[in-house]
Amino acid sequence: LVQEKLDLLKQNTNNTVNSLLDTLALSLAAKVDAKIKKGETIGLLEGIPFGIKDVYMLQGTTATASSNLLKNYKSAYTATAIQKLLDAGAIPLAKENCDSFGHGSSSENTIFGAVKNAINPDLVGGGSSGGSAVNVAKDYTVFSIGGDTGGSVRQPAGYNHVYGLKPTYGRISRFGLMAYASSTDCVGPIAKSVEDIRIVLNVMSGKDIKDQTTYASAEINEDSILTSTEIKTVGYFKNFIESEAINPEIKTEFLATIEKIKAKGIVVKELDFFKSDILVSTYYTLAMAETASNLSRLDGSNYGNRIEDKSLKESYAITRSENFSEETKRRIVGGNQVLSQGFSDEIYLKGLALRDSISESFEKDFKEVDVILSPVTPNTPPKIGNSLKDPHAMYLSDAYTVGFSLGQLPTLTIPQGTETGLQITAAKNNDELVLKFANFLK
Ligand code: GLN
Repeated sequence: LVQEKLDLLKQNTNNTVNSLLDTLALSLAAKVDAKIKKGETIGLLEGIPFGIKDVYMLQGTTATASSNLLKNYKSAYTATAIQKLLDAGAIPLAKENCDSFGHGSSSENTIFGAVKNAINPDLVGGGSSGGSAVNVAKDYTVFSIGGDTGGSVRQPAGYNHVYGLKPTYGRISRFGLMAYASSTDCVGPIAKSVEDIRIVLNVMSGKDIKDQTTYASAEINEDSILTSTEIKTVGYFKNFIESEAINPEIKTEFLATIEKIKAKGIVVKELDFFKSDILVSTYYTLAMAETASNLSRLDGSNYGNRIEDKSLKESYAITRSENFSEETKRRIVGGNQVLSQGFSDEIYLKGLALRDSISESFEKDFKEVDVILSPVTPNTPPKIGNSLKDPHAMYLSDAYTVGFSLGQLPTLTIPQGTETGLQITAAKNNDELVLKFANFLK
């Protein structure tokens, strides 16, 4: 199976791979084979091939973040989440193409060529974990590990009709995941079934001394997600569905799903929520501020190309201006402005206050409803090339995913309900309920 998938990945024309881990994969697969030959029992994930978004550390292999700056960077250690998968016997096949540093919604902001959608190659693969979602959709990997800061697992999963989970913030350790916006970065699995998501989530979850935001969580067992008796009330945001920006078909399909749910005896409530432009601007204000700070270490002295014959200051400037993409530079400049004296009270602190209000609004909602449903995006996947021409339109396409990120809530995309999928969200730490609801809808 490993060899078969490696061959498929090597030949794929969707630009999903940054580097192939063939030597490592084959040697790990041989160990599993030897175990089977000896008659030893093997674990649930042993020998199962998976992909890794190229923003995770895997010792001895390149970790490029799809950027020129880290083109030759080799990981000195392995991310906790990835190590847990390796310990369970899963076999890493490839580092997967994505938007550079997670900056984007289309997987076109990459030095490895735009990721092409699994269903229609003229369209984008979605982003930023585009390569990961396309690999799963095409069966090149059994599951892939993406990263979700503002929708980067859920949106590409939706665009390629597969499942993608952003767990509750802190459920899975971020140690060894390159930081984009640390307060919303989440490790997220992409797979072809709720059951596969459950298994991989269980393996990666747990408290980690190397990430102080992690917490211990109970394992989610197979039977518990097959019962859904506690789901009695579902909510959705009226203003998302009534927005002028929503594609009419997505709206019709979403409302048809709501009718189906009502027919199953569930009470559906319309909820009030913040307008999309407030959600998008709050998210991008904070995400840009955090990324400007996180990426300041990429200056050519520790990471990136060191320029020897220039002053330190010149060397920083040359390394950063020559090697960051336009989109990443836009975010660094924006983030530094947001954080600078004279602006930070007006913009950054306001962003933090809005984020608190958004979280409070969710807390209030989850007193009334068990889960919240939403389309994944207001739009269908754009044609390749369009998002690069119009970054503002690209930011607005994140309208339905970023709010749940700011709330640090568990939220799952399932390939149902609308062309870009349905997003199921529950209260913090209630990842199990999200999986239950996905099964209930089947
Ligand atoms: N599209 C969003 C952004 O560019 C989300 C990206 C992500 O989750 N990494 O910030």
